[in-house]
Amino acid sequence: MALLQSWVESANSAETDFPLNNLPCGVFSVSDGTPRCGVAIGDMILDMAVLEEAGLVTPDEVAVFDMPFWNDFMELGPKAWDALRARLIELLKADGDPALRDDAALREKALVPMAEADLHMPLVVSEYTDFYAGRNHATNVGTMFRGAENALPPNWLHIPIGYNGRASTVVVSDTEIHRPLGQLKPPTAEVPYFGPCKRFDFELEMGAVVGQSSEMGRPLTVSQADDMIFGYVLLNDWSARDIQAWEYQPLGPFQAKATATTIGPWIVTKAALEPFRTSTPEREVELLPYLREPGPMIYDIALEVDLEPEHAGKPTTITRTNFREMYYSSAQQLAHHAVSGCAMNAGDLLGSGTISGETRESRGSLLELSWGGKEPVRLDTGEERSFLEDGDTLTLRGWAQGDGYRIGFGACRGKLLPAVEEPDWTK
Ligand code: CA
Repeated sequence: MALLQSWVESANSAETDFPLNNLPCGVFSVSDGTPRCGVAIGDMILDMAVLEEAGLVTPDEVAVFDMPFWNDFMELGPKAWDALRARLIELLKADGDPALRDDAALREKALVPMAEADLHMPLVVSEYTDFYAGRNHATNVGTMFRGAENALPPNWLHIPIGYNGRASTVVVSDTEIHRPLGQLKPPTAEVPYFGPCKRFDFELEMGAVVGQSSEMGRPLTVSQADDMIFGYVLLNDWSARDIQAWEYQPLGPFQAKATATTIGPWIVTKAALEPFRTSTPEREVELLPYLREPGPMIYDIALEVDLEPEHAGKPTTITRTNFREMYYSSAQQLAHHAVSGCAMNAGDLLGSGTISGETRESRGSLLELSWGGKEPVRLDTGEERSFLEDGDTLTLRGWAQGDGYRIGFGACRGKLLPAVEEPDWTK
């Protein structure tokens, strides 16, 4: 697959996240407008509501793009997804349909400079589930807490383990996050105390956006599950390690994961990632038939995280890894999610689990990078970090590298603010 040439010049650069091959879905607004669907192309956003109004794209009898979310379009299903992609490529490629290219007035209205736009949540997240499907991450965390011999729980090689998270606090890039308050019990203390989390962390993940619903009571095959996935976003699953350590047994993480989950503003479609499809690692033990993959189900996506302390003036890249490190694919996770009869909805978001590589430099959380705080990470500014400090900004980036182009995800950014003032608990 080569770079598709567009008449939008900035889309033809080898460095842009958004060549014509990509066409990711977001929601944007400009100063006087309401949020609506847009597609990134080079350094511009294509206003999908304007295109729909002009009759250049007609996925449904009713308008689906003059909306602050992509859910209505996603629900139209894979045929509509493929048709829209083909139509947009035809309208934007250098030698394609001139209906937009040669209409100066329409072009002016439909193409908005990205620099002038605000980006919003690209979808309404109906429910959020987070998995624990990265083998290096599970091994690192297990080694720290249970020792190397018992690093992987006995179920881990058989089940993509997950827990039900909160959709209400899934937020888009550039949303500021307050350090959470909660119950903390240091190992040496007999009883817990209440206060701001001291071991606040990030988790580098990808989120799979489910674009179709399934019936309650009806299991899904891995292949059916893959067909239901609309696309992928960058995802930072903020984590309060000390709150989790005290609360998580026996029912799993609760408040430790409820503060916030930040997603990137652009949903990169499965179709754009198709050339980068690859296989999950070899299975150490054979999976049960309902979890076996009929073909390659993971993607080769390079991932990086930058940490920038307040007033530092420059970020430090603290980790570099790849989505293909995951032991379980999102399609396997979705199939497992539905196997009990659990109904899945368009707008469901599945966090992959923390993506860590084998080397120290490729670990996807500070818990692992600093090995529980024992080996602090040195930043380019000379400062050290075991966990996040107030004022720190975390930026996740990801891209699939093609031949002379890349399929990028934009930035997934979040700044950590100090904990909010405690209310008077007696009132
Ligand atoms: Ca997580």
